[in-house]
Amino acid sequence: MQSIWILADQLSPDHPLLNPTNKSDSVIVFIESLGRMRHRPYQKRKLVLLLSAMRHYAAELKNQGWRVDYRQAENFTIGLKLHLSDSGSEKILTIAAAEWQARQQQTKLGERLGCVVEIHPNSHFLVESYAPEEKAGKKLILENFYRAMRRKFGLLLDSEGNPIGGAWNYDAENRKPYHKKLQPIPPLSFSPDEITLQVMGEVEQKCPTNLGTTAGFDLPVTRVQALEALEDFVENRLADFGPYEDAMSQSEPILFHSLLSPLLNIGLLEPREVAKRAERAYFEGKAPLNSVEGFIRQVIGWREYVYWRYHKMMPGFHSLNHWSATKSVPEFFWTGETDMHCLSQVIKRVMATGYSNHIERLMLLCNFALLSGINPKEVNDWFLESYFDAYDWVVTPNVIGMGLCADGGVVGTKPYIASAAYINKMSDYCQGCRYNPKVRSGPEACPFNFLYWNFLLKWEGQLRANPRMGPNVLGLKHLDESERAKVKADSERFLATL
Ligand code: SF4
Repeated sequence: MQSIWILADQLSPDHPLLNPTNKSDSVIVFIESLGRMRHRPYQKRKLVLLLSAMRHYAAELKNQGWRVDYRQAENFTIGLKLHLSDSGSEKILTIAAAEWQARQQQTKLGERLGCVVEIHPNSHFLVESYAPEEKAGKKLILENFYRAMRRKFGLLLDSEGNPIGGAWNYDAENRKPYHKKLQPIPPLSFSPDEITLQVMGEVEQKCPTNLGTTAGFDLPVTRVQALEALEDFVENRLADFGPYEDAMSQSEPILFHSLLSPLLNIGLLEPREVAKRAERAYFEGKAPLNSVEGFIRQVIGWREYVYWRYHKMMPGFHSLNHWSATKSVPEFFWTGETDMHCLSQVIKRVMATGYSNHIERLMLLCNFALLSGINPKEVNDWFLESYFDAYDWVVTPNVIGMGLCADGGVVGTKPYIASAAYINKMSDYCQGCRYNPKVRSGPEACPFNFLYWNFLLKWEGQLRANPRMGPNVLGLKHLDESERAKVKADSERFLATL
């Protein structure tokens, strides 16, 4: 008898270890680890999603005739020990965990349990089967990584292997700001069934002080629902995804985003099928090339790239701090109680739902944290606890790497900093804010403005050396000595209040 241990983020429709010919001599084990659940005060919606999806997945396998052992335990080792003694299994097969720390634990399992533990490649990431080569001493940037992935997996290519439309990248067409005439169709809502209602009750009972609420939970929790969510996105939002992927709005938080990341991250959807479905929408004339290319770039470009980089940079990624940032995450990151309207709106939404779109994460939250000198590890922890799609392999490269550039430019190629002009252009947040996005210093000035110029002044020498930061640094010539002094004083005053 052998055991197949499936983790909560490995709910694959084609699980590589579930070979029907092994049904009679295999038992599938699922463990809800209370220790893992309490490891951080995770967003409640994330916990409900993970646990409900795992229970549904286990029930489905049982229906298919698999022997299933579903148990709760204080931690994975205790759960597996009890499972081995109850089932009489001599061997455990499992897929490598996506998170580095969990993967390290898996390698010690055999010794701890006193049995053979076979760890197989993680099939939820394309880079586990093919990774573009990075030559020694020459960084493989995202753009080249993405092109290699497009070629390898045959996405949006013509018969000669060239990119359809003649270009690899349509980003220039995908920078439209939010405007009031947009009328996005909201994502499908899935009513919780008996299993999900049970999980919602347990999460509220076991983790009462975690962020968010289980009330109103409506995410997909089964493979069938995940496919419906994919179709809903392709039919109703993909066409406008590209142009407005960087837009932000207080009244339309989701806009044309897919909301598929939580499903991809637990295996209910596979990256290749999602990318292929988007490609088919282009061939069927349902969505333009710039939208489909932009979406495919997110799925097989960025998502795979950050996973690949993360495993190359671990361990040690969490302690990187290129800008020597030491401030603590301000209290208002947990309450949204700040006069900065954009941050207040986004943080309140994240606290309640675990969601904000990617550009709000990058250009509002990370931008603010970077300009304010907030410690990268603390910001990373905040993201890990707050978001419903947060896992270490994706948050750490996105926050410590791209968002805060605390890795000195390994994941990204420059610090993503912006003043209020960008936020005002791309969103409707500044309407109704007590600060003025057009003022650089003084009592009415938006903090993003003086913090931005203060950051440029502080790091001018280093930023000047980065060709992508040239235009930003050149702007400093418009600041005379008196304006520089005001920007600095306003920043010091503001930062002291955090
Ligand atoms: Fe945010 Fe500044 Fe705009 Fe207010 S004025 S919403 S703080 S960018």
